[in-house]
Amino acid sequence: MASEAAEPSVQTTTEPAPSVPQPTEPPANSSLGGFAILILALIAAVIFLQRSRKAKSGDDEAAPKKEGKPKAAKADADAKAPDVAEGAAAAKPDVGESCCVVCGTEMPMLTWRGTERMWLLCCGKQMCKGCHADTAEKIREASIAADDGTTHAVPDCPGCSSSLQLPDSVAMEKLREQAEAGSAWAQYELGYRCEMGLQGVEQNLADAAYWYGLAHDQGYGLAAACLGALYLVGWEGVEKDYAEAKRLLKPAASKGDARAQRFLAQIYDGGLGVPPSQSDSIMWLEMAAEQGFAAAQADLGFMYEHGRGVTRSIKSARKWYKLAAEQGERNAQFLLGGLLLNTRGEKALPTAMRLCRQAASQAHLDAIDTLLQMESNLKRSCAHCRGFKEGLTRCSRCKAAYYCNGECQMAHWKAGHAQECCDSGPDCSHILAMAAGAQQGQQ
Ligand SMILES: [Zn+2]
Ligand SMILES: [Zn+2]
Ligand SMILES: [Zn+2]
Ligand SMILES: [Zn+2]
Repeated sequence: MASEAAEPSVQTTTEPAPSVPQPTEPPANSSLGGFAILILALIAAVIFLQRSRKAKSGDDEAAPKKEGKPKAAKADADAKAPDVAEGAAAAKPDVGESCCVVCGTEMPMLTWRGTERMWLLCCGKQMCKGCHADTAEKIREASIAADDGTTHAVPDCPGCSSSLQLPDSVAMEKLREQAEAGSAWAQYELGYRCEMGLQGVEQNLADAAYWYGLAHDQGYGLAAACLGALYLVGWEGVEKDYAEAKRLLKPAASKGDARAQRFLAQIYDGGLGVPPSQSDSIMWLEMAAEQGFAAAQADLGFMYEHGRGVTRSIKSARKWYKLAAEQGERNAQFLLGGLLLNTRGEKALPTAMRLCRQAASQAHLDAIDTLLQMESNLKRSCAHCRGFKEGLTRCSRCKAAYYCNGECQMAHWKAGHAQECCDSGPDCSHILAMAAGAQQGQQ
């Protein structure tokens, strides 16, 4: 059964980087500057400085998750700790090269596409992301039908025809059985669940390292990046070990694993056990970003925005942020919002707030704080006449502008809010049509 398909809301195992602790995450706070400048320009709110400081410290806690991860390792974790034989992995193939069991799309192991595969935990077959989403949707429809008392066909596993609706406890038991029997992919998948604490599996980095280690020993390509990343932060009973991290990450990065490339970039950027080298950092980051890895795209955008290891380029920063933000990368959403405000000023506010809201909805702490502060400031001043008063009404569409009354709103709309307001949302064709109609009526 595919517990993943049965549980579409659960984060999938093969999602690249969110899983792994992120050592020297550069981003976040800088862009607060972007938001801060605007807000201060608008309302000179001293509170914001306090807020932004608070947001900053909040994100420091949240972003790298270095110390934050529960390390509830068992006492015997050390005994189980992986004993990764040097060179063992290199000698064997990166097992698991395969195609989508439904549509046949190739998913080479160590490319960006390869990390988008979803395993069917019942039989070890794989689905591409698109087919996985389709299957999840069918299951969702079936469960809605069941609630209604009607019936709707529930798809079976396309690989082995077993039910896709096993409860997590049963699915995890089966996964563990396969992992213990020596299946490399199952060891990797179980390691991921141990690392993240998913589907009823207790979060435990020592267990994660153990299972990743077994998969890696068998030459399972994807395991190296995950295990390497764990060595960057260490776990209960095991100190962080930059040299070991690099030893694991570099071969995987060279073979094209985008996550390994990004972690290696962080090693060089931060000088973790190596002399700091921004050119090396950029080189690996570009490889990962070019593959489409959103987290690396966000990092690269940050490097361009701040001219770190590259010639500063707002255009390139915006390009990479945008690519990542469109994939739903929350940090890129937040950073892009700040960049737009910095470069385009107040008229970018609706778009910036939409981006900030998207990031906030994914629990980006800086974004949440910034959004709260922006909203509380915005609603105190009319976007058109700048009048300060209570009880302003909000633009229902972009939710990023407040007005004294309809007259102020119409004036602001005509003065250019129309475009930004519509750019900030997915569907404003009817508003534009209405506006066009109104203009024609006036003529
Ligand atoms: Zn497919
Ligand atoms: Zn199956
Ligand atoms: Zn007004
Ligand atoms: Zn608006």
